[in-house]
Amino acid sequence: MATDANCIFCKIIAGKIPSKKLYETDKTFAFLDIGPIAPKHCLVIPKYHGAKLTDIPDEHLQELLPIAKKLAKASGAEQYNILQNNGRLAHQQVDHVHFHMIPKPSEESGLVIGWPTQ
Ligand code: IMP
Repeated sequence: MATDANCIFCKIIAGKIPSKKLYETDKTFAFLDIGPIAPKHCLVIPKYHGAKLTDIPDEHLQELLPIAKKLAKASGAEQYNILQNNGRLAHQQVDHVHFHMIPKPSEESGLVIGWPTQ
């Protein structure tokens, strides 16, 4: 498994930096974003370290969207963004691949229902 000792998300996976974990498998980790732009904004990342999508072997990418989908459903939001940035021009700040799941809250969205906690 590729890791980078200087990567903040590798440190989160290793438990060296605290996070609010939402989901974990042998290849994938999901946690709340530290600077949410909406309630329950979270990140889904491969444990395999790579800055861009093109740096990650396919076998380490396969769970990412199904888990983002699971978290979108669990958030209770009926509308949401799934975003993934590659490179500074594309607004990437953390150089470890991550998918954002950003709920779009509404009165009817029931955001507290079914949300997984650590
Ligand atoms: P990017 O612009 O797509 O690279 O987004 C990086 C995201 O990582 C931002 O939404 C940050 O708020 C988030 N982030 C940065 N550091 C941490 C952390 O230590 N814990 C959780 N989220 C983080």
